[in-house]
Amino acid sequence: MGNDVWQLFAVKYAHHHRMSSENFLGGDSHEVPMPLDYFVWAVVSADRAIVVDTGFDEFSGSRRGRNFLRSPGEGLKAIGVDPAKVEDVLISHMHYDHSGNHGLFPAARYHLQDREMSYCTGRLMGHAALRHPFDEEDVVAMVQKLFRGRLVFHDGDDQIAPGLSLHRVGGHSMGLQMVRVRTRRGWVVLASDASHFYANMEQGRPFPVVYSVAETLEGYRRAYELADSRDHVIPGHDPQVLERYPSPAPELKGWVARLD
Ligand SMILES: [Zn+2]
Repeated sequence: MGNDVWQLFAVKYAHHHRMSSENFLGGDSHEVPMPLDYFVWAVVSADRAIVVDTGFDEFSGSRRGRNFLRSPGEGLKAIGVDPAKVEDVLISHMHYDHSGNHGLFPAARYHLQDREMSYCTGRLMGHAALRHPFDEEDVVAMVQKLFRGRLVFHDGDDQIAPGLSLHRVGGHSMGLQMVRVRTRRGWVVLASDASHFYANMEQGRPFPVVYSVAETLEGYRRAYELADSRDHVIPGHDPQVLERYPSPAPELKGWVARLD
């Protein structure tokens, strides 16, 4: 396998039951069950593993009534990724379900957009409604990483490695970034929370946690533009991901999917 063609894994670590009206700005007239899954992702080559997002831990999940299934670290080990050896962690945005488990990757540099760090440490966090999806501990831990030389800032689009790049879209959070990965089936875009569900981007109906509706809608367009097809865009929280993509091994069925 060439160094610039990556394997791509989604690892589910938590779950939340909720109704469809909670997943669309302005609600949803159907009002049917529409649960959320929580994932971390691994981008893997023959000699390197890069992790996208770090999830939450049992304590911070239970504080918000989420159903914690397994530690993201245990999930990564199950696909052969040793968290202690990971050198690069890409953080899509600083919400509590994407930036926890601060001690899990002791050898890693963290990659974040300037705008996301400014947002979660700036004046807008004075508003409870904007602050709500962030955990203070995650932000403090990221500031510590900055002062320990372990934080790499990005401003817009950047390449991390051949066949692997970051793309800022904002929208759901001020500095949210997506990850574009070259795989054996072509260019895949890990949208993370640029679109929580397939339905958000397919129907142009934003998730209600939103910094900018305009940027969210532009983010859907950008995700489709950067991917080889609509089937190459992976939403951040949709349980359908585990139905559409195969599991790498029978014992991982229902919680790990190969996206490449
Ligand atoms: Zn989020």
